Amino acid sequence: MEDVLIAGGGTVGLMAAACLARHGVGALVVEREPGPQIHPRATGVGPRTMEILRELGLEEAVNAVAVNMTATFGKLTAGTLAGAGLRDRQAQSRAELMGDLSYTPARIRGVCPQNRLDRVLLDAARTRGARVEYGTELISFTQDGEGVTALVRGPGGEREIRARYLVAADGVRSTVREGLGVGVTGPGVLGPNLHNILFSADLSGVTGGQPFGLCEITAPEAAGILVTIDGEKEWTFHTDLEPSAELIRAAVGDPELEVEILSTLRWRARGQVADRFSDGRVFLVGDAAHAVPPVGAFGMNTGVADAHNLAWKLALVLRGQARESLLETYHDERRPVAQLALSQSLLRAQDITLHFGSNAEARARAGAVNAPIVHLGYRYGSGIEDLPSTEDVALDLDGSVGSRVPHVWVSEGVSTLDLVDGRYCVISAEPVEADVPVHVVEGWPYGALLVRPDGFVASAYTPGA
Ligand SMILES: Cc1cc2nc3c(=O)[nH]c(=O)nc-3n(C[C@H](O)[C@H](O)[C@H](O)COP(=O)(O)OP(=O)(O)OC[C@H]3O[C@@H](n4cnc5c(N)ncnc54)[C@H](O)[C@@H]3O)c2cc1C
Repeated sequence: MEDVLIAGGGTVGLMAAACLARHGVGALVVEREPGPQIHPRATGVGPRTMEILRELGLEEAVNAVAVNMTATFGKLTAGTLAGAGLRDRQAQSRAELMGDLSYTPARIRGVCPQNRLDRVLLDAARTRGARVEYGTELISFTQDGEGVTALVRGPGGEREIRARYLVAADGVRSTVREGLGVGVTGPGVLGPNLHNILFSADLSGVTGGQPFGLCEITAPEAAGILVTIDGEKEWTFHTDLEPSAELIRAAVGDPELEVEILSTLRWRARGQVADRFSDGRVFLVGDAAHAVPPVGAFGMNTGVADAHNLAWKLALVLRGQARESLLETYHDERRPVAQLALSQSLLRAQDITLHFGSNAEARARAGAVNAPIVHLGYRYGSGIEDLPSTEDVALDLDGSVGSRVPHVWVSEGVSTLDLVDGRYCVISAEPVEADVPVHVVEGWPYGALLVRPDGFVASAYTPGA
């Protein structure tokens, strides 16, 4: 019997496999496509995702494939890309654009297209013992008191897989969610059919080789959003207009540009959250559990944090070190975070300046919170209305129960987050007696904290309690 079967080998399924493998749990991933996803959707990798990658030892590997944006531009808006005048403008330092990042030890040097991130995760998961079977689709499943029996169809025909738990990372149209009969709540499909056109072209003639993240193109004949994929020759253009090389030339503002369209993805933005994130031995993660419009970059990033939240709980239960009731906290903790991600994405979809603008007052009026708070400033067990700040995530990461433990540099290159290392521990300014590792951090102002394996504060630590 497998420990964990994961349906879907997109970013979140691969992250679940990598996180489980890191806890010594074997996972089998079945992915219906013949290989890793080629067409990138997400490019914005958030601070919590980077912290999770750092925990997995993958911060450097992801930075090696991320686009170098040491100097870049914030969101651009212009009639055409040429009209944005990048050749004649001075790029800003990324550090300046990102603002204060002192709340986190993890860094990414620029955007990272999802397909490149997936390759890093696939290698990490396989190296640590997870198995990933491409061309294998989960058709149906049943569950009983001991496990889950899944029917899959792969290159060798149909077969049954028996596993203790099933993790559904099978995307927005999740077969598993439907099989469970779990409904979704939210506005559903939003806006028109969109084309996400992946194309290859040398844009250095209009950019002067200066990297940019995204540019909103306003010319009516070529309206859409141009997004950097590899910073050199690959880009995507999101539009509701008919895809063609001519359209790309019009958006770039260079009628002579050589353009090769590599692939086109048709999609529609959606807003929905599953009514239950788990049912017995089955858990929904990523887009199977929640789908949000892309402004804000909360989709994949929320899914990655789902996988991380679930993995250590499954590991402890499978090792017999925790009761099965621990697994119920997955729904209780992650569904409110997904609802926050949805509501904040919807606000940003209506008014993009709430995300890219720096107007905290406008955000407060609209009920929007600053993006880092959606990524990692929430608290399990209480809502954003209870947070000390909806703008400054550093104020929210104050050692309160349910929050991500504060980051403090302990020594050169070592953060308090690194001390956790996937196990329960105590972080304290003074030595204390405990049957978990105790890390004494000089000047730690938060009292003695019992920290969970995922780096969230479980409780104030009282010896002997
Ligand atoms: C244009 C666009 C831009 C975006 N930008 C961002 C961004 O910047 N940041 C961000 O955080 N998010 C972004 N997102 C959202 C992000 O792409 C998704 O949230 C993310 O891909 C979800 O990952 P997932 O692994 O849950 O699902 P998916 O990526 O959809 O993967 C699901 C996988 O399951 C497989 N599968 C489905 N059914 C079965 C089955 N029955 N058996 C086996 N396999 C199955 C599929 O083939 C697929 O590979 C963007 C989305 C779009 C469309």
